[in-house]
Amino acid sequence: MLRLRTNLPYAPVEIQTYTRSVIAQPYARKEKAILHMDGDAFFVGVEVAKNPKLRGLPVVTGEERGIATAMSYEAKALGVTRGMPVFQIKREFPQVRILPGDYKSYVQYSGKMFDIVRRYTDDVEEYSIDECFADITGWDKPLKLSYFDIAKKIQKEIQKELDISVSIGVAPTKVLAKVASKLKKPHGLSEITSESRLDFLREVPIEKVWGIGPHTTVKLHKKGIKTAADFAAKPHAWVHDSFTKPYEMIWRELNTESVMPIDPSLKTVYASIQKTRSFHPATSDKRFLLSQISKHIENSCAKARHYALIPRKISLYLKTKQFTYHRHTIPLTHSTNAPEILIALAEKYFSEIFDSKMLYRATGVTLHELLPESAGQGDLFGETIRARKFQALHHHLDTLEQKQGKRMVHLASTQAALNHKAGGTDSDDLDRNLLFL
Ligand SMILES: [Mg+2]
Repeated sequence: MLRLRTNLPYAPVEIQTYTRSVIAQPYARKEKAILHMDGDAFFVGVEVAKNPKLRGLPVVTGEERGIATAMSYEAKALGVTRGMPVFQIKREFPQVRILPGDYKSYVQYSGKMFDIVRRYTDDVEEYSIDECFADITGWDKPLKLSYFDIAKKIQKEIQKELDISVSIGVAPTKVLAKVASKLKKPHGLSEITSESRLDFLREVPIEKVWGIGPHTTVKLHKKGIKTAADFAAKPHAWVHDSFTKPYEMIWRELNTESVMPIDPSLKTVYASIQKTRSFHPATSDKRFLLSQISKHIENSCAKARHYALIPRKISLYLKTKQFTYHRHTIPLTHSTNAPEILIALAEKYFSEIFDSKMLYRATGVTLHELLPESAGQGDLFGETIRARKFQALHHHLDTLEQKQGKRMVHLASTQAALNHKAGGTDSDDLDRNLLFL
């Protein structure tokens, strides 16, 4: 039995079935072996695993959002596309089964998939709910398996134990591994080596390379670069002079130089984010308490944005001088990590927990049932558009603040809390991780 590294932001878990020998060590190697695993139509895959009667049928998830969030390959073959409105699917493809999303199951299956990858290395970076990178460099010798066969074994175990189909790519860098996992979907296995790299990259349009957005695609097209191979073949000096650092890194990775490390501490799926603060003396100052809540919402939203997550519920609490808790939970009709919207809700429901005759010693805010931001995209109702505008603005501010290394902007509603100089303790906890419930 082996414990996972303890610097991860969740409790260490014990893995019962462990295929690596505890004393085995990876062999030192110059070139890296990076694996990228990606679930095939993952949400639908989980639905089929839960209810095998759905296998082979055209199935779509997203009923609760009014749009297709994932489609089975059978539904795709009919012509259903991501984001297609449910009413249109019903009208044009009445044979399609439309299911509501079951995010709790998706998160649980996600955790189990990543645990299977962790049987082969601790260096696993959870990139999204159904994707991870893993550094398997040097594990071929002790496991007596080629890198390709390690990928094959992972794919087989996920299929056998979870009934989930995944595609896996193996390559010397993250960018190449991501290209590789897409080459043969679904249930694909591909390896890109330094030698075979250009044959593959010639077939990959530049806009399909991880990290190349629409804006850069236009710029690259103007310079006559149409494929990943065209870009990789450019001299370093030219790339260095024409593009910013991230694109230079992509160029290096396309040329098999690993410059994007695997970060095992990155986690994308949290059950909840909580911010609390206790203070003294206890107070019944409504304005102050609300400003504390506002600050917690701002901070927890910043954290949620960092991990590209949105909550489905928010709860507020006040703790009295006598240590009793008054809590109110608000389900969100439109998931968002934009603080303006959540603060407005908190102000609306504050009277549910506040009594002006009581003295309070602590406030807290929890964002619950966090989902990847991508799960909340697609529906185009007014509220969502408004929330998305705020989200985009905050992502922009977050980038600026990261460069400056400090918080630059606060909402006015938070100001009273920041001005409060009295003693107190902030605390910032993650609840138990849903992955390991
Ligand atoms: Mg996927």
